[in-house]
Amino acid sequence: MEMTAAVLYEPNEPLVIETLELDDPKDGEVLVRIVAAGVCYSDYHVMKGEWTMPLPMVLGHEGAGVVEKVGAGVTRVKPGDHVILNFRPNCGHCHYCVVGRPVLCDGIETPRFFMYDGTVRLHRNGQDVHHMTRTACFAEYAVVPEAGAVPVRSDMPLDRACLVGCSVMTGVGAVTNTARVAPGSNVVVIGCGGVGLNAVQGAVLAGADRIIAVDLLDNKLEYAREFGATDVVNAGNGDAVARVVEMTGGGVDYAFEVIGNPRTIEQAYGMCRPGGTVVVVGMAPETDTFEVNALSLPRTERALLGSWYGSARPWVDLPKLADLYMNGRLKIDEMISRTYRLEEINTAYDALAAGEVARSVIVFD
Ligand SMILES: [Zn+2]
Ligand SMILES: [Zn+2]
Repeated sequence: MEMTAAVLYEPNEPLVIETLELDDPKDGEVLVRIVAAGVCYSDYHVMKGEWTMPLPMVLGHEGAGVVEKVGAGVTRVKPGDHVILNFRPNCGHCHYCVVGRPVLCDGIETPRFFMYDGTVRLHRNGQDVHHMTRTACFAEYAVVPEAGAVPVRSDMPLDRACLVGCSVMTGVGAVTNTARVAPGSNVVVIGCGGVGLNAVQGAVLAGADRIIAVDLLDNKLEYAREFGATDVVNAGNGDAVARVVEMTGGGVDYAFEVIGNPRTIEQAYGMCRPGGTVVVVGMAPETDTFEVNALSLPRTERALLGSWYGSARPWVDLPKLADLYMNGRLKIDEMISRTYRLEEINTAYDALAAGEVARSVIVFD
């Protein structure tokens, strides 16, 4: 079939909106009509050349839509089902899948810009076009592996559900799955974009006591208050580490870094009390490194954790997050600052880069 998509041909060039050919789903694959897709920073890393991926590529990894067609052998979804795209579709039987950490699945040998069989379903004039994270949802339609299309209750609006597929799962999951924040804990969240705001509301769900939000932009700190931050610190006004340590009488129990910047990772470490836990959620450019005093790790027993996709078990967690939203326990409407058409996607990324929005959503007819 033919459909419109946003294609990246070269880093630091605008996405090109054009018609692509999309093959039918093969065995174990699902064709999804995309209804909404979130404008996430991870795609921007690829657009800026900070993450190397094969081009041309259709970006987009935070999507939701309706199943149109399924390939042979697909049993878990059927045409008409509403689905959230899972950008870490897994094999189901490797070591990591079996121990309950499907985000770390290493059972699929082909790179995650192709379908499991190592080929693509996207083409333009005979040229192969890659699928970012096997989701490629900056497009009217996407073919994804069955494990990448997670059914969601049909009464949840899909322009809300799409955000569950990345920013909500990543932020809330970092708190509830990766760190398992205990009730009454003090928490700091550094970086209040789409994922950081969800770490803030994850801390609310976990029953944290003080939830301190740190950012350089006052508009984002205002968002953070709306999402449940009890205190905000503008890191542009003085030493944020000293401020947080002072506010908490010695440091927080959990520090979440949600920017992906070596300096703020070091700050998160500095904001943690002895015995506390630092969780790095932000995705840095590929070659960045950070520095931590080696002796301070044993002497203060601080833990340093990484959290990818909120340590998601997508088939359990995405429907659960949808329920929490539908039950009024999770804010998603408040996250959506703007909506755009696919044709406006470059403008949407300019707004993201300028820090103007909590989240924007691309909506399709
Ligand atoms: Zn994302
Ligand atoms: Zn696996």
